[in-house]
Amino acid sequence: MLVKGVVFRLGDELPSEARFLLEDFRLAVNNAVRTGLQARVTSRYALTKLTYNDFRQEHPKMYAKHLVSAFEVAGSVLKNHRRLVRKGNAGHVPYVRRLFMKAENQAYKLDRVNGVVDLPIRAGCHVMLKLVLSNYHRDYLNDPSYSLGSLTVFPDRVIIAFRKGAPKPYAPESALSLDTNERSLDGVFAKDNDVKTVKAEFPDIAMIQQRHHERRKRLQKKKAHDRRALRKLCRREGKREHHRIEYRLHQVANAVLSFAESRKSAIVLEDLKGFKPRWKKELNRRLSLWPRRKLHQIIQYKAQWRGIPVVKVDPRYSSRTCPICGRIQDSRMGTEFECECGWCLDRHINASLNLLQTAISKGMAGGLRFNPGAFQHDVMMILYDPVTGARSEPNGTSCMRVVA
Ligand SMILES: [Zn+2]
Repeated sequence: MLVKGVVFRLGDELPSEARFLLEDFRLAVNNAVRTGLQARVTSRYALTKLTYNDFRQEHPKMYAKHLVSAFEVAGSVLKNHRRLVRKGNAGHVPYVRRLFMKAENQAYKLDRVNGVVDLPIRAGCHVMLKLVLSNYHRDYLNDPSYSLGSLTVFPDRVIIAFRKGAPKPYAPESALSLDTNERSLDGVFAKDNDVKTVKAEFPDIAMIQQRHHERRKRLQKKKAHDRRALRKLCRREGKREHHRIEYRLHQVANAVLSFAESRKSAIVLEDLKGFKPRWKKELNRRLSLWPRRKLHQIIQYKAQWRGIPVVKVDPRYSSRTCPICGRIQDSRMGTEFECECGWCLDRHINASLNLLQTAISKGMAGGLRFNPGAFQHDVMMILYDPVTGARSEPNGTSCMRVVA
């Protein structure tokens, strides 16, 4: 089952009854967190059993399902806290400051035609929340194949979870193998005996990271006397950076997926999970690893939603192996890969050839065949370029959009 959270802005201000409900909900969550910590329980079931009766007396009018949902939120807060404790960097007792509430799908009603949420507050008291609808939102409301999941209410917006069964991925007719680098995805597109170079460049992501890093450094000097202001400004800086990078990652992912979908390709990626820095220089590299991991996450999750097969391959030796004779080089320095057998190719493209070969030899990419010797050095297909956006399918990127 795939879940996607869609953000709806509220047309009117939140009614005061609903505001009180949010406050009660927060109170219930924080009480449950404290009780759970004392009693050392984290599961919703245990929390409910332990505290339900007391809470019922304290919040006699609250809708019972909301109360249970508060226990669930408290359970996940406790789980996070416990993980931090295990890692040894837990701070104070967790406390939820943010005003919000969560309702399970039986605990609210949605009028999908008019975009109105019917939220029960207590017996005999409901509030109607009018949602602001765009075409993007209507696509979700009008499609009956999406069922409704939980509803999260904030003072100015709601998030509705839409669920659908994962579509079965198509049988690939070609493969798109990509090596993930700091500023680009480089790889090959292989169909039958035709192998071409592909590239999706995102140099601005590294630039944004660099710029924000410098700004934060400057702030640290300038606001050294005022820690509170420093923290606030740095947080704002970090949030901006995050949004700007995430936006670009979604664009790149959409371009790659549209390319793959239109050619019925399987996407082959390196598995970044096992990456551990072995020397100092790699440690620096690791600092900038997150956008690449994030890009993979986005590609994978969107591919699942669209039914595009994605294959993850262990990248070991992929940048040092010759795809023709199979020799493994000692070092992988330099931008060109050169082998004693005469094979010579851009290092990143070469790595993607090896990823593809691994995927095919392990039978992970269906019944595709692949001949690295058929590689066409002079042909380059651009999947994405930051200036013009996705080039190959001008409309392909509009079917999926960003949701926080
Ligand atoms: Zn060789």
